[in-house]
Amino acid sequence: MSLPDWFILQSPPDIDIDVSQWKQLAWGRVKLLEQLPQNPSQVIRDHFPLYDDTLNQIYHDYRLGAYLLRLVAATNRRLEAWLIESEGDLFERLYFDRTSLDQKRGIFENLFGSGKVMEYEEFKYKMDERHNEKLAELYHQFHSTRGRGTSDFLICVHFSQVPWMVSNRRGYLRKGWVVSNEVSFRGSLKKAFENRLQEEVEKAQDLLGINESIDQIVQEIEQNLAKHTQIRSQFSSTEFEGKNLQSHPEIFPPCMIYLFSEFEKTGRLIHGHRLQLGFFLKKIGMSVDDQLHYWFEKSVDNLNITYAEFQRTAGYQIRHLYGLEGGKKDYDVPKCSTIATSYFCPFVHLDPAILLEFLSNNYLTHKKSVTPSRNQLEKIISSSSRDPTLACKDYFPFIYGKTLYRKIVHPLQWARYASKFEGLMVEQDESNSSKNNEAETNQ
Ligand code: SF4
Repeated sequence: MSLPDWFILQSPPDIDIDVSQWKQLAWGRVKLLEQLPQNPSQVIRDHFPLYDDTLNQIYHDYRLGAYLLRLVAATNRRLEAWLIESEGDLFERLYFDRTSLDQKRGIFENLFGSGKVMEYEEFKYKMDERHNEKLAELYHQFHSTRGRGTSDFLICVHFSQVPWMVSNRRGYLRKGWVVSNEVSFRGSLKKAFENRLQEEVEKAQDLLGINESIDQIVQEIEQNLAKHTQIRSQFSSTEFEGKNLQSHPEIFPPCMIYLFSEFEKTGRLIHGHRLQLGFFLKKIGMSVDDQLHYWFEKSVDNLNITYAEFQRTAGYQIRHLYGLEGGKKDYDVPKCSTIATSYFCPFVHLDPAILLEFLSNNYLTHKKSVTPSRNQLEKIISSSSRDPTLACKDYFPFIYGKTLYRKIVHPLQWARYASKFEGLMVEQDESNSSKNNEAETNQ
């Protein structure tokens, strides 16, 4: 099975080049990654043409640029987070737009590991499942509902590679394997790509400190990148620092308000949900001490323990998410696509009936909210199965009476718009004000 030329995690490119060219290639890759969120289709059309005599050289240079950026990311945690997130988005797009059927199978094997992926027919024979009626039913259902001209196919992945699909019961689980259509594995595939890239960044550290001229170029690129406005401001920013917005749940996006209300009601949240809410509370300005007291006082698990005992157990995890323990990493709030595969987004994880109830209760009695009709909500719910971030954007006007012209791709993006409309944030600089202008009054 072949891998597409654009795939950056294949065998290392030939790096026998003059180091003075490095900067150029790395910057080329940075520009490409920066343009992607503005207009993804255009970026794919412009940078990844379908037919071009010079494609081999173009893709070679892209892979080289991507490789060099890994060395730079190995020196700076914030750049590492930006690189993994941006390359993950580009991977998702290229996999969708520029990958043949055979190459898709190649990517499955490369990312999930050989021996961890099987074709549907192979699974049936190897696992002695030829007479499994449920499997036959799945096959017929897939072929009868598959749209004409789609390239979707059935595939089987070992459960150890797709924990999110297992815990959310996506696909048919049989003998330690998840059987489903290729499209439903895409979130897990992207996650596997990001994990592998992170491993590659860690490995790249071993190449530093050996050659002085390489170290010098890496340092130069790192310093220029760290000053780069778009990278600095990309949701890893400290724009809410000192704002104490934790006492304003009216600006929380649906995912966070759901978890927040659940915790307030029951005193309990599962580990992943606690982390998600904890990252968010940190980034909207809650101090580590306030967060320690918040979880200690509200969690029913702490009823019989002292604050000192709590500090040694759950307190450690809270300090960890502020980068004060362990690897000392100052974690960001995950973006919506990561939340969809690894945490909690109501538009992805709630059953339609429960989602309808949650959305129609309008979770807070909000002075500016417009009560949506059942029809309007059902429309949002039906669009959420195709694109949860679009559903989130369409729900926004019912809470704040303002229409957004861009999809919500990050919980802090919702919080930024909401706090502006609630009069809780003053525009601070040019980059923030241009973001704020993305939302306009329309109701
Ligand atoms: S789309 Fe994003 S911001 Fe909206 S509820 Fe889901 S995870 Fe939260």
